[in-house]
Amino acid sequence: MGLSPFLLNSPIITLNTASGINTEVVKLKIGAFDCMIFQDMQFKYMAKDFFINADAEELTEALKEYNGTPENIPSPFIAILLQHEDRKILIDTGIGFSEKPIVFRGASHEFKGRLHYLLQQENIRTEDITDVIITHFHPDHIGGVYSADAQLNFPAARFHMHGDEWQYWHSSQSDNQPALFKFFIEKNITKLKNKNLHLIKGDIVELIPGITAVRADGHTPGQIALIIHSGREQLLYISDAFLHPLHIERIDWQTNYDLDHQKAKLSRIKLLELAYKDNMLVNAFHFDFPGLGRIDKRSGTWVWNYEER
Ligand SMILES: [Zn+2]
Repeated sequence: MGLSPFLLNSPIITLNTASGINTEVVKLKIGAFDCMIFQDMQFKYMAKDFFINADAEELTEALKEYNGTPENIPSPFIAILLQHEDRKILIDTGIGFSEKPIVFRGASHEFKGRLHYLLQQENIRTEDITDVIITHFHPDHIGGVYSADAQLNFPAARFHMHGDEWQYWHSSQSDNQPALFKFFIEKNITKLKNKNLHLIKGDIVELIPGITAVRADGHTPGQIALIIHSGREQLLYISDAFLHPLHIERIDWQTNYDLDHQKAKLSRIKLLELAYKDNMLVNAFHFDFPGLGRIDKRSGTWVWNYEER
């Protein structure tokens, strides 16, 4: 389907605690969809991975604006739940939960995702989830598909993901990828082969009424972004097409986590133009929680503005 019919109103964001501050769950309406954004966990990235070709001095200066330093770039992992009529749709599944620390890129990490706990808090039963959309196969997005004891966490769900993502990670093309990535995929994705699996084909595909996948490859070969649209409201979920607002403002600053920088840049431009044209509300997985904002343009440069809450 085409993208032009989408028009925008600003969804209203409601905080769900008496104090008005909740750092783990944010609720909003997108037309008829009830939307919850969950903070699965907080992570810390390093500039040497996040910004591999930025001038060091310029980067240190630019990061100050975002409360970061080259040694400490705070970043959440998130998941989104959409509810409408009898559908409960989960977008990405968090890092999952592991008792023991996991070593990645030379450092030891505690991966104790809170998504399942937070779903419980909101009285959402994982067996009632009807659809799970996986935007790409990195650990922070797929880790919650199976439990630590290898049980499928969403037994009734249909699982949507791009066929190119499946193909890449299940072929020798991905043999040079970190062992940790392969481990997470074996544990959480490969076993879905005999389950209710929908491998997406094509560039723009409506998965569920009101939820359209838009190809956003480069970060990985089959990454998708999502447009959630209902009535006159819409939300663009950009997953990891941008890992930091500075990747919007300095479109040529590359990250180690992108597999193909040229394709990643083209996807970035496509999503920025899409969001800017309709002044869409945008949700970014790795930006300050809940990662909501809008795209503007100033003297030829794209600008990210966090949505006031
Ligand atoms: Zn990610």
